[in-house]
Amino acid sequence: MENFVYLVGSKITREVFVVDPAWQVDTVLRVAKEEDLKIKGALVSHYHFDHTNGIEELLQSVDCPVYVNKADISYLDFSHDNIKPVESGHKLKLGDVEIECLHTPGHTPGSQCFLCRGHLVSGDTLFINACGRTDLPGGSPKELYYSLTQKLMKLDDSTILCPGHNYADKTMVSMGEQKKTNPYLICDSLDNFLRFRTGVSEVR
Ligand SMILES: [Zn+2]
Repeated sequence: MENFVYLVGSKITREVFVVDPAWQVDTVLRVAKEEDLKIKGALVSHYHFDHTNGIEELLQSVDCPVYVNKADISYLDFSHDNIKPVESGHKLKLGDVEIECLHTPGHTPGSQCFLCRGHLVSGDTLFINACGRTDLPGGSPKELYYSLTQKLMKLDDSTILCPGHNYADKTMVSMGEQKKTNPYLICDSLDNFLRFRTGVSEVR
């Protein structure tokens, strides 16, 4: 599925959060060790298996909080005391670095993106030139339309988009570029968005 797992944090304190710990947790732990990084928590973009299936394995090695938007918690297929519900606007700090949770429902009810120093880690809400599908449990095309056009379109053009999957020929692009080329961001009405979505093959 070519998921991206990101480490986000402070170069000064070397504290990091793992975004979407799924797959190859051993690699995440090894890289953190090699780079002298302290894993202080996990950020979860949404409940889907391919973004969460490494959480329990991670928690066996690191006792840390796992931040999930409150609207997605009931969809997780496991529970754990370390899971902490967050809401939109919630800010987390690692040393000198602040990370803001931005609730972007649509792909799932509790989908969230993470804004950190001019980067948007977008999970499955926004991909390079595509967006998340809305036909899985809790998905809503209407909500995704508003998340994309009312929230993500308002981000600064210089913001760097870091998507949850490797679906494009690049791994990161600027939001300024996406605002010109991503057909889902450009849609000018909900009707057009809904019509456009049903006319193309969807990606996860
Ligand atoms: Zn997903």
